[in-house]
Amino acid sequence: MKTYAVIGLGKFGFHIAKGLAEQGMDIIAIDNDPHKIQLISDHIEDALILDSTDIKALQEAGVVGLDTVIISIGENIEASILTLMALKELDNKTIIAKAITLTHGEILARLGAFKVIYPERESAKKLVENLVGNVVIDQIDFSSTIKIAKFTVTKSLMGKMVQEIELMFENEIHLIACKTRDNWTFDVDKTYKVRENDMLSFIGKKAFIEKLRNLTKEES
Ligand code: ATP
Repeated sequence: MKTYAVIGLGKFGFHIAKGLAEQGMDIIAIDNDPHKIQLISDHIEDALILDSTDIKALQEAGVVGLDTVIISIGENIEASILTLMALKELDNKTIIAKAITLTHGEILARLGAFKVIYPERESAKKLVENLVGNVVIDQIDFSSTIKIAKFTVTKSLMGKMVQEIELMFENEIHLIACKTRDNWTFDVDKTYKVRENDMLSFIGKKAFIEKLRNLTKEES
């Protein structure tokens, strides 16, 4: 039984489908444009021309009870919504849907998409962060509410104990690692006083990680 389906093989969906196939995943690729199907069929055996808003066509294609389905239809919001509804009705489990506007994303989330992604927005944000660089060197969205991020110690943190920094952010962040003089430590004592140029890696609620980020950004 197939475990993945990718619906909509535009610029984004094509690379998702190709990437999953390259990782050896068993996948169904779907688009209503024969040209898109022709392009992906070099990489995926099970590539089908069909209208994904048509529940019967999805059923016949075996898009039923799959583990993960990615909807990569952006411009045609109506088709994206109807596709999600059909997929839910066919008992597909984890549905990840691309959105092009926040309203589009909100509708998809309310209709039960497991995760909504904004590819252009997210990759632009990543690029800006990489360009601005030296404050947050790296960060990961661990879930929709939790983030992991690395910070370089700035003026208002210097000399503070780890427990004091955590308390500044209502104990909603937790230090997971500290790099000092080129050495990473993972069991940092809460009474350790952070030094200039230390690198701190925190896990915590997104809002508090953002607050810490803004603080270090202002001071860098
Ligand atoms: P991208 O930026 O990834 O190229 P996009 O955001 O512009 O895509 P669309 O152009 O709306 O999104 O659609 C992406 C793909 O989904 C296209 O290849 C299109 O043919 C396909 N598609 C749109 N509607 C349907 C549908 N009802 N059934 C199947 N495929 C569809």
